Amino acid sequence: MRFSKIKDNDIANGLGITMSLWTQGCPHHCRGCFNSETWDFNIEKEFTKDDLKYILDSIDKNKIKRDLSILGGEPLCSQNVEGVINLCKEFKKYYPDKKIYLWTGYTVENFNEIQKEILKYIDVLVDGKFEEDKKSLAIMLRGSSNQRVIDVNKSLKQNDIILYEIG
Ligand code: SF4
Repeated sequence: MRFSKIKDNDIANGLGITMSLWTQGCPHHCRGCFNSETWDFNIEKEFTKDDLKYILDSIDKNKIKRDLSILGGEPLCSQNVEGVINLCKEFKKYYPDKKIYLWTGYTVENFNEIQKEILKYIDVLVDGKFEEDKKSLAIMLRGSSNQRVIDVNKSLKQNDIILYEIG
């Protein structure tokens, strides 16, 4: 898995404060993407054990309680998905009560078997490509209204897509 940055204190990508990780590389190339510098799979850096340790050791640093957000780029493309699953699995081992938010351009109904693995570890999934004609600044956690904010735990329990209740 490659990534471009880790932001310790993020208030724009989650509810409350999160530590946010931007994975590098995206195959979707949505028109109007606000983050096109994350498309290239060959730049930025490989996510290492030291980066994992940094997240695990720093998630509550300075006594600030944070959840974890994983954005892109595309966290669930074949180049990144296994690294992201490993990160989420390790994170939940140490912090089972913290939320993990994850953004993907894929829709959950079309996840392949490897991508489905991530559902065991994350709490909130924002799915779907960014669609410029549906862009809105008024909707929380999403860039365009076709995207969905999914409550993963409830969806798995009810075997249906249950939207996350915000606030
Ligand atoms: S999925 Fe996200 S990062 Fe990738 S092109 Fe679409 S908006 Fe940009």
